[in-house]
Amino acid sequence: MQALRRPHAITLSLVLLTLFGALRPSPAHAQRRRSARTATPAEAGPQLYRSANFHMMTDLPRDEARELLQRLETMHRLVAAYWGRRNTRPIEMFVVDDLSNWPAERLQQMDPQGLASIRAQAGLTMTQVISNGKQFASKSVVYAVADHGTPQHEAVHAYCGHAFGNAGPVWYAEGMAEVGKYWRENDKSVGASEYVIQYLRNSPIRPLNDIVNNPLETTGDSWQNYAWRWALCHLLGFNENYTKRFKPLGLALLAGRKANFWQVYGTQAQEIEFEYRLFIQDLEPGYRCDLCSWDWKTRFRGVTSASPTVSRIRADRGWQASRLQVRKGQTFRYSCDGEWELAKGEEAVTADGDDQGRGRLTGIYFEDYELSEPFELGAEGTFTATQDGNLFLRCGDAWGEIADNSGTIKVELTLDEEAAVTPPEPQSP
Ligand SMILES: [Zn+2]
Repeated sequence: MQALRRPHAITLSLVLLTLFGALRPSPAHAQRRRSARTATPAEAGPQLYRSANFHMMTDLPRDEARELLQRLETMHRLVAAYWGRRNTRPIEMFVVDDLSNWPAERLQQMDPQGLASIRAQAGLTMTQVISNGKQFASKSVVYAVADHGTPQHEAVHAYCGHAFGNAGPVWYAEGMAEVGKYWRENDKSVGASEYVIQYLRNSPIRPLNDIVNNPLETTGDSWQNYAWRWALCHLLGFNENYTKRFKPLGLALLAGRKANFWQVYGTQAQEIEFEYRLFIQDLEPGYRCDLCSWDWKTRFRGVTSASPTVSRIRADRGWQASRLQVRKGQTFRYSCDGEWELAKGEEAVTADGDDQGRGRLTGIYFEDYELSEPFELGAEGTFTATQDGNLFLRCGDAWGEIADNSGTIKVELTLDEEAAVTPPEPQSP
């Protein structure tokens, strides 16, 4: 099933019913939200709640319904600002907390496919597009269970349906609906559900092309597929190496123009593959793709003279270029100047870190789009390169907690002259 076909201009006013499937799975470990509450009799049946962009029929208790409406409006503001188009008319939504609260006449107002989706604990957005090939008018109706951010996910589809009459290919439509679901104002950190993060980290990595170019994938296929689509869209949306091209690509896809991932990113394929693997490996709540964007620009040099290689390493960034290119077996002396803080108001520490090892200067080798294991350095000392590569450095801290760090440490690296005259010891196996 194709998620959304472009409106065909076969005849004027052709009505095309399009489905944005929306799978909201209930993995065993993703607990169904069930707040401690008792609905008063007056609240037992579904009620209509209205805001500027949403007309929502729901059996949620009034305070929760109003809160959801507010969250939807905030989300709408963010996605409309991102894509640069306004929603054209209020989005109709059926949001179901418990179907047994819904009298038969209300259920009859729902489309059978929408109702079936709700019974499956999922969501579905149905968009009608009337198009003459040049202009379109569209109307989207959302059916969603109240849990798992499903209303937010579906509302992104409905917004796209109204604003563009299109949602783009499955990977983009579903990936961005997930991104939109987690979107918070002025916050670029990973906010995906814990089970999504755990699944991605503990699964064999899915090749990029399997995400962006898989004709077998369909909307509503599996929450695992949604997780990979979210990961890719989140990375491209927030990583500073790719974000600039991502929005024009998305707008082209939403406009139904011929555009695809590889046309836009083909020349950066190896870089994206590398950063995508790293993102999945280090993924945790609070991870910041923007702060961990890889430095592809800085030039690295081998040691050619007595002058030190100098870099300034920020505490609030991921791996950063030391500028030093190493050869296996070379021994280097390093010394650091400065201090950094691991959280606002915390005591500053040197590159030795604190007594638990947090904040310690840490190194890693990059060679041919592969990384070594990270290894600890400190404020001063020597190390012998275990392989060829470019040395990257960072302040040792949890990946989800680097955004609140501050401070910069100056690192000087020189070839260790004493070690240089004696050949390195053979490596023990
Ligand atoms: Zn969806």
